[in-house]
Amino acid sequence: MFTTSVHDPQKLPAPGAPEIAFAGRSNAGKSSAINTLAGRRRLAFVSKTPGRTQLINFFDLAGRAFLVDLPGYGYAGVPHEVRDHWKELVGTYIADRSSLAAVVVVMDVRHPLTELDLTLLQWLRDAGRRAHVLLTKADKLSRQAQQTTLARVRRELAEIFPGATVQLFSSLKRDGVDEAASALSALAAGKNKAPAKGE
Ligand code: GDP
Repeated sequence: MFTTSVHDPQKLPAPGAPEIAFAGRSNAGKSSAINTLAGRRRLAFVSKTPGRTQLINFFDLAGRAFLVDLPGYGYAGVPHEVRDHWKELVGTYIADRSSLAAVVVVMDVRHPLTELDLTLLQWLRDAGRRAHVLLTKADKLSRQAQQTTLARVRRELAEIFPGATVQLFSSLKRDGVDEAASALSALAAGKNKAPAKGE
């Protein structure tokens, strides 16, 4: 299932099936979400060294779509050159990749919409990309607190990124898996189009 890893944005594989890319702050639960949604354990290689995973990993979903694991961001103490490389790698991919169908932005439900999340959302919006937000580790909050956060994030997204969708998710409890799976297939099929630039 694992196909290829890319370090140099000029060396991405030729565009093919639609790609759903996953991005998020390091430790937000991105690898766990990919593993849960791809129905495999330990699909993504989890780097134990913060900031070391500066690769774009492609996972082939039976030839129908690729799940693309973008390197995480926001680790304190990461050297400047690693941050610059992240910006170049992810920025280029988001701006230029013709087969990119949508980006899933993974956020810890307890710390949503950090400054770097907002920067990423701005890139996505400016590139005319579609975005789906997963508020992960929902199991860490009470049902009521989950709903309060969901409503707040939805309200903020409506202002900064109209058209972006958001849901609660827990890899641990497998909550929100069906909702995320249908969002992903709709996005891979090109539904839920984002508004065109300037709309
Ligand atoms: P990544 O750095 O964004 O890829 O994050 P990981 O998927 O490696 O997860 C970071 C930590 O959060 C790990 O210790 C996971 O076990 C934990 N984690 C991930 N998803 C969940 C979840 O849904 N619920 C809980 N309680 N913990 C989670």
